[in-house]
Amino acid sequence: MSPEPVIDVGELVKHYHASDGSVVRAVNGVSLTVDAGEMVGLLGANGAGKTTTLRMLATLLTPTSGTARVAGCDIRRDPVGVRRNLGYVSATTGVPDRLSAREIFTSFGRLHGILAEAIPQRVDRLLDLLDLRGCADRPAGRLSSGQRQRISLGRALVHDPPALILDEPTNALDVIGARDLLDLLEQLRAEGRAILLSTHRLHEIESRCDRFVIVHGGRVVAAGTRAGLVAEWIPGRGGDLEDAFFQAIRPDPRIPEGRP
Ligand code: ATP
Repeated sequence: MSPEPVIDVGELVKHYHASDGSVVRAVNGVSLTVDAGEMVGLLGANGAGKTTTLRMLATLLTPTSGTARVAGCDIRRDPVGVRRNLGYVSATTGVPDRLSAREIFTSFGRLHGILAEAIPQRVDRLLDLLDLRGCADRPAGRLSSGQRQRISLGRALVHDPPALILDEPTNALDVIGARDLLDLLEQLRAEGRAILLSTHRLHEIESRCDRFVIVHGGRVVAAGTRAGLVAEWIPGRGGDLEDAFFQAIRPDPRIPEGRP
């Protein structure tokens, strides 16, 4: 029997009620799984429902219906258990300018209830992993955006969670910073963590993720490996992930291009 996926999303729905009385159907029945030691890319255009899906998984938003489990904990019934097992890096996660990486990791370690005597060792391990040793005690406001992004990641890892969710983690980074971060995520995957990340930058993650889930209008319109998606969406013609992505999100994707 195969083990339960670390992240298991079942038919999640989120409808927002806008101030003018209208209903925004942001997420309309998204299901996906991520196994231990797997990295899955959540892809979609602006407004596709990626952030809303990830925020529900992180227990920051209550679903309208459906549910999800993280390491066996249900996001509705056991949000504390979910947070214990999940590291979440949002697109807007801020890092306080005046605090250093060491101070930030230490305070998050305390918040997670890690024993005081275990914290320094945990923090040192994170500083090494994230290559932040040389600037561990410098205020974060004086660090580069790549270093600050690594602090955000460290903050999400301080309690050693089996699942990691990242919303557009490379957005503020240049090509070198993005590559370093993705190398790091591959390392975390090799440790057996389940990683789900959203991004617009398909070329960056094309060869990094094990599988992809493409959302459009709040629904999953395609899912699979890179090779599987290319074979399914651009059969016989070959192409890359971006070609498959564009085909999958076309208004009527099953009608080949150039046909009515
Ligand atoms: P992006 O790539 O631009 O970040 P996304 O795929 O993450 O987009 P979401 O942010 O989840 O998409 O938004 C999905 C839909 O829900 C959009 O139409 C958005 O305008 C709408 N939406 C998001 N948050 C709210 C809110 N608080 N109230 C009303 N509508 C919202």
